[in-house]
Amino acid sequence: EYIQKLNVKGDDEIAQLSKSIQTLGEQLQYFEDTRNDFLASISHELRTPLTYIKGYSDVLIKGLIMDRGEQQKYLKVINEETKRVIHLVNDLFEMSKIQTDHFLLNKELTDLTTLLGNVVQSLTPVAEKKGLKIIFNHVKNISPINLDPHRMEQVFYNVIENAIKYTNQGHVKINLLQDETTTKIIVEDTGIGIPEKDIPRIWDRFYRVEKSRARKTGGTGLGLYIVKEIVRLHDGEVYIESVECKGTKVTIMLRREDVIK
Ligand code: ADP
Repeated sequence: EYIQKLNVKGDDEIAQLSKSIQTLGEQLQYFEDTRNDFLASISHELRTPLTYIKGYSDVLIKGLIMDRGEQQKYLKVINEETKRVIHLVNDLFEMSKIQTDHFLLNKELTDLTTLLGNVVQSLTPVAEKKGLKIIFNHVKNISPINLDPHRMEQVFYNVIENAIKYTNQGHVKINLLQDETTTKIIVEDTGIGIPEKDIPRIWDRFYRVEKSRARKTGGTGLGLYIVKEIVRLHDGEVYIESVECKGTKVTIMLRREDVIK
């Protein structure tokens, strides 16, 4: 694209050309930097669980642990860390799909009440295991929306899963609303919340509030990045309000232009 713009004729154009080349160089440098940061993050994210898996399985193979209960504990760590790697690889795969130019949405008229209801249903056991109540409210007769159901399901899943993950007591409430212009999906929790200074950064790839806390809850820091990108591709909006120790509210807004009347 840059090259096509560079139709050089006079001195001015030469100045222009040199400026364009400089800009191009800066852009390439920027991509190079972010790519390097990104590769470094992935390596780190993979190395940590793999180090656990290697270490714990080494100990088990050497037969140093005789107690069955202890052995179970080690196996559980190996299992958890393997899950983390699988989760990470899945998220990376989704992300790379989003980033390629070929990422196309397969939009179809979708009943959001059913779609959201299915996600709530599949996450209910996870919430109940933690003693959390999960509540799904929706107004009647929500008009179907033209969207990619598979991608949007992933958005809801990520957001509701986070609400459950970062809440230790109370409830997770999901509201589905619609007016003439907008369909809103609001996910509210009574969880640990997000410190104000971290809120602008939680959308970044791999960003997690307080590494140790995030590690215990087994995230990748890619969930919200994927959410943001998919909502953006749908021409929608997503934002987060949060108060530490009180809870978090995620609002997803989808335009009703997508509605076929
Ligand atoms: P992760 O896989 O770590 O959950 P996300 O991209 O989904 O990554 O979220 C980024 C970070 O934002 C999380 O690590 C967590 O610190 C914070 N976060 C996201 N949702 C919530 C929530 N509902 N309550 C508190 N913190 C949250």
